[in-house]
Amino acid sequence: MKKSAVKNLTELIFPSRCIGCFQLGISICSVCRTSWHPHIYLRELTVLGSIYPVVSAVQYSPIASRVLLSAKESNIAAADILLTDAISHSLRYFIKRFGGDILISIPSRRSASRKRGRNFLGEITEEVAKISSMKIEVSKIQLLTHSRSVKDQSALNSRQRFANLSGALGVPNKAISNKGAGNIGSLIIVDDLITTGATLAEAIRALRTAGFEVKGAVTGAVAKPLR
Ligand SMILES: [Zn+2]
Repeated sequence: MKKSAVKNLTELIFPSRCIGCFQLGISICSVCRTSWHPHIYLRELTVLGSIYPVVSAVQYSPIASRVLLSAKESNIAAADILLTDAISHSLRYFIKRFGGDILISIPSRRSASRKRGRNFLGEITEEVAKISSMKIEVSKIQLLTHSRSVKDQSALNSRQRFANLSGALGVPNKAISNKGAGNIGSLIIVDDLITTGATLAEAIRALRTAGFEVKGAVTGAVAKPLR
């Protein structure tokens, strides 16, 4: 067998490549690791007249984008770990500074969960709570649901995204009546990425309108706001 054939075969059996640059080797190479090194980025969202902090850990970059996609669309375990680490990093800072009791993840569309074979962000959020040494729980009830369909966000600017998402999330009546909004602790919303903040603002709006107390949000990555 030619040497290249052996190498290709090895790659087939052990397809370990850097998530960021596809170099063969460990799951993320040292160069790409510098692009996924948790820091603290703080942004604020104004919703219903109140200001909500959003803490993120990693700045969005082409490499960060590949890490997020590898976790989200390809179920790559190493990418899950990177994202879990980043969100945990944001959360530690968030709780120390702003408090909060209950984690609630942004719901995926049912079609996306079906395609991925899992509730991606729900699983990551469970993992974040598990590895965190803080007194924090994941909401046992599904507090947020999609109340209508929305357009794909990628081609929209900031103003269009806010309009597209306005009123798109809701809290099922069951969730409010089963456990009155007042009985559940204060909420921290979890998402993988904040870009314009339209999704998080809509989630805060829906929860606040249903009577829940929201502290703010944590994300893995933060992109520069679109215009
Ligand atoms: Zn790399």
